[in-house]
This record gives sequence, C-alpha cells and structure tokens, in this order.
Amino acid sequence: MSMSSTSSIGTTVLGYPRIGPGRELKRATESYWAGRTDASALHDVAAGLRRETWTGLRDAGLDQVPGNTFSFYDHVLDTALAVGAVPERFAGVTDPLERLFAMARGRTGAPACEMTKWFDTNYHYLVPEVGPGTRLAPGSRKALEELREALRGGVTTRPVLVGPVTFLLLSKPAEGAPEGFRPLDLLAPLVEVYRDLLVELADAGAEWVQLDEPAFSADRTPEEVAALRRAYDRLASATRRPKILVASYFGELGPALPVLAATAVEGLALDLVAGGADLDALDPTVPGLDRKVVLAGVVDGRNVWRTDLDRALATAGRLVGVAGRVEVSTSCSLLHVPYDLAAETGLPADVVDMLAFARQKVDEVVVLGRALHEGPDAVAAELAAARATRDRVAVTARRDEKVRSRLDALGPDHYRRGPGERRATVQRDALGLPVVPTTTIGSFPQTGQIRRDRAAHRSGAIDTGTYTERMRQEIVRVVRLQETIGLDVLVHGEPERNDMVQYFAENLDGFATTEHGWVQSYGSRCVRPPILHSDVSRPRPITVEWAEFAQSLSDTLVKGMLTGPVTILAWSFVRDDQPLGDTARQVGLALRDEVGDLEAAGIRIIQVDEPALRELLPLHERDRPAYLDWAVDAFRLAVGAVADATQIHTHLCYSEFGEVVGAIDGLDADVTTVEAARSRMEVLADLGPGVPRGLGPGVYDVHSPEVPGTDELADQLGAALRHIGPDRLWANPDCGLKTRGEAETVAALTNLVAAARRVRDRATTG
Ligand code: GLN
Ligand code: ZN
Repeated sequence: MSMSSTSSIGTTVLGYPRIGPGRELKRATESYWAGRTDASALHDVAAGLRRETWTGLRDAGLDQVPGNTFSFYDHVLDTALAVGAVPERFAGVTDPLERLFAMARGRTGAPACEMTKWFDTNYHYLVPEVGPGTRLAPGSRKALEELREALRGGVTTRPVLVGPVTFLLLSKPAEGAPEGFRPLDLLAPLVEVYRDLLVELADAGAEWVQLDEPAFSADRTPEEVAALRRAYDRLASATRRPKILVASYFGELGPALPVLAATAVEGLALDLVAGGADLDALDPTVPGLDRKVVLAGVVDGRNVWRTDLDRALATAGRLVGVAGRVEVSTSCSLLHVPYDLAAETGLPADVVDMLAFARQKVDEVVVLGRALHEGPDAVAAELAAARATRDRVAVTARRDEKVRSRLDALGPDHYRRGPGERRATVQRDALGLPVVPTTTIGSFPQTGQIRRDRAAHRSGAIDTGTYTERMRQEIVRVVRLQETIGLDVLVHGEPERNDMVQYFAENLDGFATTEHGWVQSYGSRCVRPPILHSDVSRPRPITVEWAEFAQSLSDTLVKGMLTGPVTILAWSFVRDDQPLGDTARQVGLALRDEVGDLEAAGIRIIQVDEPALRELLPLHERDRPAYLDWAVDAFRLAVGAVADATQIHTHLCYSEFGEVVGAIDGLDADVTTVEAARSRMEVLADLGPGVPRGLGPGVYDVHSPEVPGTDELADQLGAALRHIGPDRLWANPDCGLKTRGEAETVAALTNLVAAARRVRDRATTG
C-alpha cells in the first residue's frame, strides 16, 4: 500500500470546500458580523467544520488529507496574513479575526482590499498589496495551528499555502509604491519568510506541505519562470523542512514543468484534466521527474461530472515509469464544487447518474489509487459499478435531434443582421428617442417583500396566480415610478428573477438545478450554479408575458431583458462531452426563439446581457481567438433574426476591455452599456472607434449607496461626449439596481434624467 512508503503522499485531494455542507460557516460568520454572536461561537463552528473535513476525508480512505484548507474568508488573504503582507491602513487593527475581516470588508477610513476572480473560476480572492515598505515576516500561525489541531484529532495533514511566486504574481503594488515597483521584486525576502514557516511546520510534525502555484498555468514570461526556479531552489535547500509538493492547476505547466522537475522539491501535482498537454511533453521523460512523487490530477476538481475511471486510470498510467512515483488526486481543489450529491433528493435519476460532487470525487480518487497500485482487479467491483452507472446515461438521452438539426441547418445569414448604419437610421425613425436617451440596466431594488413572495411561491405557500399577481403589482409600481422620473426607455425591473442565470436555467430544457449545491463565490457569499447536462432548448416562452404586460402599461418603450449565452455558460456547470462552443450555440438558439417571441409581442428594444464575456476568456492567449469567435457567434445567433427596427442592447459589467474590444464590436449590438463611472469615462478612449453604434457608459457606480448629484452626472456625460457624438451617447447607471435601496435609486435616477436633459439641450442648441 502506498501508506507504507513514508516518502509518498498516497491518494489525496488538493483542497476541499469549507463553507460547510449546510453553509454553517456562512451563517456563523454573518451572525458574528451582525453582532448576534461572539468570536468564540464562530471559532467553535469553524473548528467543528475542520474536524468533520479531516476525519471525513480520512475515513473515506484518502491516504493523505490536505490541511489549512479552511478559511474564514479567502485563502489568498490567509496567505497574506501568514507572511505579514498587511496594508498600512489595517496596521492598527490588532485582533487577528477583526483584522482579517477588516481587510476583506473594509472599515471606516480603511477601504477593503480589492477583490478579483481566481483565475477562470467563479471564486474571488482578495488582492494582496505589497510595496518596498511591506514588512514581510511570519504573521498569523493559522497553518501551524490547524496542523496541530488536526494532529490532536489523530490526522496528519499536509498544510496547503499559496506558493510565494503565485502570491506575488497575484499581488498589486501597495499605495505609495514607487513607479516601476513590481511585487515580484519582493520574491527573495518573501521566500525567506516561507522558509521560516516551513521550519515551524516541520517542527510541529508536518511531513509534507503543498505550495500552490496555479499562476504557472497561465502564460508567463521567461523571467517569471526563472523566478519560480529561484524560489524553489532556495526553499528546497532548507535543511529542516517538510517535503514540498508544488501544485499547479487550471491548465498545463508547460515551460514551468521542466523547471520544477529540475528543482529538489519532492512532489509535483499536475492538472491532467485542463492541462493534459503536460503529458505530451514527457518525451520520453522530463529530467528530474523520476525522482519525484507526481500527483496525477485526473478527477476534475471544478466540474460536477462523474469521472470516466477507465480513462482516468489510463491517463495516470502514462506517468508510471516516468515519475518516481505516481499518485492519484483531483485536478485542483474541490472548493469549486458542492459538497455532496447525496444531499440532492430532487434531481432526476438519469442526471444523478452523470454527477459527482466533492464527496463522490473523493471516492473516485480512492478507487483510482487502488487500481493504480494494486491493479484494476483489486477494485473490479467498484470499476464495474462505475461503468454501469456511466452506461445508464445513454448518449441519446443527452441529445435532442431537433436542436441539432436546427443548428446544422443554419447558414451565415442567421448570424447576421442588416448593416449597422441602416439599422441606426431605421431605429431613429421607428423609436423616436431623444438624443442622449436615459435608461437603466434592468433590475430595480429587490425588496424583502419580493424575495419573500418568490420564496413562498417556490415552497408552495402561495399559488402561481397569487404570485403572478404580486409580481405584476411590482411591475406596475416600477413602471409608474420610471414614468414619473422621466426615463426614456423603461424596464420591468426583473422582480421575478432570483438570479439572472438560474432564472433561465429553470425555464430551459437541458438544465437541472440543485437544492444544496452551494459553492463559495467569495467570503460568506455562495452561489448555486445550475447544471447544464443535455442539449438545450426552450420549451415555451419565458419572459414574454412579463415584458408584454410591462409594455401594456405605458406609452414609453419598455426593454425586454434576457441573459446571453456566454453568461449562462459562465455561471453554470457545463457538460464537458462536447466543445463549449457547441453548447453555447444551443443556448443562443434557445434565446433566439425568445427574442423572436418578444419581438412578435411588440417589444421594440431587447437587451441581452453578457456581463461574463470577459470572465470566460481562456488563460492562454493562444486559446482566446477561438473562444471569442464562438462567444460572438452564440450572441449573434440569439439576436440575428430581428428586424432592422428592433433595437438590440447588450450590457457588460466591467470597464477593462483590452482583449475583448474586437469581440464587443463583433456582437454588433445597437447599444452597448458598460461600467465607466469609476474610471471617469476613460474606458471610452479604449473603446475608441472600436465600437460604433450606441454606447451607454455608466455614469454612476451602483455599488455605492451615495446619490450622485446632477452636476456630477452632467460632467460625466460631458466627458463622454468628448469621445462620442450625442447621437450615440446613452445615459444610464453602471449596472442593475437590484441591491440598492428605493430612496437612493429614485434620487439618483431623478438626477440622471436632469443631467441628460441639460446635456441634451446643450447638444441640440449648440
Ligand atoms: N439586467 C441585469 C440587472 O440589471 C444585469 C445584471 C448584470 O449585469 N450583472 O440586474
Ligand atoms: Zn452589470
């Protein structure tokens, strides 16, 4: 058995969910924040969850259990605290827990650290801030304390930390850092801190540590790869230290693989799901690999599908004889998938057969580990059962021939509308909008009552008739409100939507939604991504009645509101048995049906939101053009059938366009609304001539409760007019108003309308 080899890890996983199977940590944390419970209550819940995780993983049969995977908020923040990277503005907060939450959430006079996406996942981390003045030194002893805590419970864990190079590559220069300073400049002192941490961990009984370097799965410069070599040469040279496992995930290591193989670290974890290309690079081997334990990450850690065990075994087998020793693991931490499929009682049996959540993936790892080391016969029954389950999922069950033949029959014209200039002229006459028209992004404040009504409807406490009536009342209210404010293009306010993706997933065929399938998005915030398992189609109209009703209330135009194909994919677990582009086109086709029905119902302006267009951008440059091609195609398929007179809007939730400028242009929307307030319209310079047609750079930030004044808003519009003409400019907030309060929303929109009128008067008289 692998356990007998002290130098090896055995079967393991790279990380595990931590929010609690019933979101216990979320509840405990929010209760602490609200002052309802004290720190010791929070610590008790945390300790309980850690214990459950450690013993649960050990009892499931893993040879080695990862440690330090727990976090009160974010593991990058934990690492910052462990190495003393605390921004000056939080230095005065001495209580460790308070300091952690202050960095995560801000406090008076000390804004929170910036939050951004963890590679191409839907998890968000807090961006560390480092500068020449950062006093790097061992800080919080969290990894050490959790190691001891687990040992007391009888489990020897492998503490996991973000590796030093990735840590710096994810950091940004602290405020006041001199021009030209780069976080990576601090690598040498940071590595010394890690060396100190390693000594402490070794002294406390750690046999292995795991240092995560996922930054090397993205494109890296030769200089950065050289930094990786320096860091691990230095760390490996420490005399008193645990064995080091360097883990990379979300893609292949590429040029970093031979570099790490040549260092003296004892183990490497490879993502063989997203980074299979690393296997092809073994030709016949990589020097140094024959001295290492290599973790074959063959169980997908970030998607919910069952593993094809035979295939995974064959993949791991390719490393045998090449690596010093091969062990089976997940491709990345299981943080990105829900805890346990067994908690789902409402999923159709054939969908259950397709799925494996974190707990099931652990079982897969255990079976694969035994198959690898003891031979497939040792687990013949388990392998046969897995095969039988997979076979029950007939390929035909996931296929909808009607969808496929419709897609096959499409030609280039289905993706193309009339020329933009012509559309603009036709729409000017047909829609009769003023210059610099005012509008919003779609949602209006979601009151407690709306949420309660939705929940009551879901649980059956109120019937569909009552529910529909209440939502209609809300739509009436929101439409009247907008008329009073004087907006030029109205919305229905989206009260019937819990979430812009889940809502569509619940109404399209090919998706399933879970009851308990929560995954951490950031801090205490969790999402329940829908599961896109089969061919997608729209059985019946989704938004049409709501839109039609809203339009019937007013002579002013009301926008129809849809979520685009890329965003639907980005915020779901998506089938991996066909290219993403094929799935996106199916969603595009389903939306095309909806767009067509909205148009037929007399909706003259239809918005298709694509806030996730940039999020899904592949980590490697070489994969980006193909992605952008299918992303654009899917959108254009959704809107390609409408008449010239129907105006298509899209909304993007960010202001850094860089790589996606061409794609935004490619979407060919008549009006594009983007985030711009915080950058003071600078984005327009980026967009430059790249995006013709209408443009609505958000003039105020919806994330702040402050009400922008009319002068400020008029200034923003004036700044925008330096880049684009008044015939193309729209006036709108940065994003949806769902999370805002009613009073501030009314005040802000009233000022927006006044500002637009002022600018409009100037533009038409001057
Ligand atoms: N229409 C959506 C809303 O207003 C858009 C949200 C988003 O961009 N994330 O809520
Ligand atoms: Zn937005």
